[in-house]
Amino acid sequence: MTAPLADLHLHSHHSDGLLDPAALMRLAASRGVGVAALTDHDTTGGCAAAAAACAETGLRFVPGVEVSAGWQGQSLHVLGLGVAPGTPALETHLENLRTLRRTRIMEIGERLERRAHLPGRELAAGVCAGTEVPTRLHLARALVALGRVRDEGEAFGKFLGRGLPGHVPIEWPSLEAAIGALRAAGATVVLAHPHRYKLSSGALRRLVGEFRAAGGDGLEVSVGGMSPRDLDRLATLVRNHGLLASTGSDFHDPALPWSAPGRFARLPADLVSVAARLTVL
Ligand code: AMP
Ligand code: MN
Ligand code: MN
Ligand code: MN
Repeated sequence: MTAPLADLHLHSHHSDGLLDPAALMRLAASRGVGVAALTDHDTTGGCAAAAAACAETGLRFVPGVEVSAGWQGQSLHVLGLGVAPGTPALETHLENLRTLRRTRIMEIGERLERRAHLPGRELAAGVCAGTEVPTRLHLARALVALGRVRDEGEAFGKFLGRGLPGHVPIEWPSLEAAIGALRAAGATVVLAHPHRYKLSSGALRRLVGEFRAAGGDGLEVSVGGMSPRDLDRLATLVRNHGLLASTGSDFHDPALPWSAPGRFARLPADLVSVAARLTVL
């Protein structure tokens, strides 16, 4: 029997996704997903509603979160899978991250106002009023709605990316602190989309070594839209470091078909999957 399709990286409107958790889980089920994790940025707020929707559809639910962390000046994302929502050490950590996010979005707004002559303060205030987890993607959508860019990608490419007028460097809590908070909540800890960090292969090996030493369990090896070459590289890292392998779409938006729920390559058969470990727990 083949393992069920496990999408362990999904966003709802509790962070920067566009669907509510119940609609998201119904979409995942309709696309053949058998195990689904809700992994909103820096909040577990949607997990109860997602769990209820999964109970109705027969989808196996994994409560999760995607935590922002810093490593050598680089922002990283760490997935906690199988978290116990409400664990004080984790919830305090997440609250701190959301406070950092609000401050950053308001600073980005000011910079956009000063350097790009955009109504940045108003846009940023609107973003913060509309969500508990303000992300740059919310701001990118606001710039699209304003008609200043064609799509979110252009907003990052013209205004929000590194070296651009709306870029504000942020010092996230350390990788060790992120892993500690997730482990306190009983999570299996996975480094999200390692191929996206633009690290040299030596730096990526160092990161993975430190991640494992700090208590990390696995790498996200197969993600929606990635190249077979990146998947190969990550599979090799997982083998060399004795880690688990995770899969997920990183779905946010139903208008973007390449990251639809369940749409990612299967893992090479020799890897030990995070989903198998989570579903026997
Ligand atoms: P933040 O966590 O506030 O830095 O916002 C980053 C979020 O924006 C990510 O989680 C992605 O969902 C999205 N994102 C990042 N880069 C891009 C890009 N180039 N185009 C579209 N969305 C992006
Ligand atoms: Mn996102
Ligand atoms: Mn991410
Ligand atoms: Mn994500």
